[in-house]
Parts: sequence; structure tokens; C-alpha cells
Amino acid sequence: MSGMDESLSPQKSRITIYDEPVVCSFCLHDVYIPYEVFVNVEEPGVNVRHVRYIAICQHCGQAKYFGDPSHFDANKGVFIWALNQYLISIRSYKIKILFYVSKKNNDKITGFTNKLIQDFGVEKENINISNLKGVAELQIKISSLNEIQEVRSHIMHSAKKLYITIKDLTIN
Ligand SMILES: [Zn+2]
Repeated sequence: MSGMDESLSPQKSRITIYDEPVVCSFCLHDVYIPYEVFVNVEEPGVNVRHVRYIAICQHCGQAKYFGDPSHFDANKGVFIWALNQYLISIRSYKIKILFYVSKKNNDKITGFTNKLIQDFGVEKENINISNLKGVAELQIKISSLNEIQEVRSHIMHSAKKLYITIKDLTIN
């Protein structure tokens, strides 16, 4: 992508400024919705675009302010576009997790289920739990901005934290 001569559109996206990704300083996520902010500029420079943005981190809600440093490079005689925007669409995943549990108590199932509900914002009707002879099965439908690998590693990480041993994990 060489650059863009349009304003950033207010959609979920990753944004770069001179190819550097805009990353949230609070949660390190990089998905934003940018909004154009109008400012009064008394003497707008000829070669600088006076566009300002406020971008809202879609993970933690923190706001980030930045301008558009696109400018005319007099030496090279070309206009340098600074901002790029990569739109992100929400994907749906079907997840099936098989994991080992003790036959006596269901604490691990409850704990793991609650963790996933919290992390992925799952609705109750999108979860199916069954427990058969020491192996529990969780089936979940989620919507996420993340890639399948990120979803997978997130689940593995949560399981590890709760001392859960996964027998099988399929996501599609
Ligand atoms: Zn954030």
C-alpha cells in the first residue's frame, strides 16, 4: 500500500503512521475505531494536512490522538502519505474443547467456562457443556476480531492458568 488520500473511516481497523502500527499504550492491542476531529487552524500550512483523529482502542476503550503528518517532500517532489488503514471484519468461530476433569467435582468446568464467557463475551445459548467419564466437552460459538491462531493461543493460555489439560481443541 503506497498511501491514502482519503480520511480514515470510522470502522474497526489497524492503523499505521509511516508504517508504524498504532498500538495502545495501556493494553498493547492495535484495533481502533478512528474519528476525525475538527480543529480550528488559523494559518494552515500549505504542505501539511491539518486533520486530527481520536482513535478508540477496541479492547480497553482508551483514546489515542494523532494528526496526519502526510506532507509534500520538496526534495523528492512527491507527496508522502503517512496514514494507512486496514479494515478488520468480525469473524465467527465454532470452538470445541475436550479437557480432562476429575469425576468428583465440576469446579474446573465451571471455572473454565466462566473464563471463556468473560474473555470472549459469549452468550449463554452459545455454549454447550457435557461431561463424560473424566473428559469434559465445551462447544462454544464466538465472534472475534482475532485470527484463528490468536483465539487458539488465548484458549490454551487460559487453560494453562487454570491447570486444565486439553485433550483436543478444534476451531473452525
Ligand atoms: Zn487498549
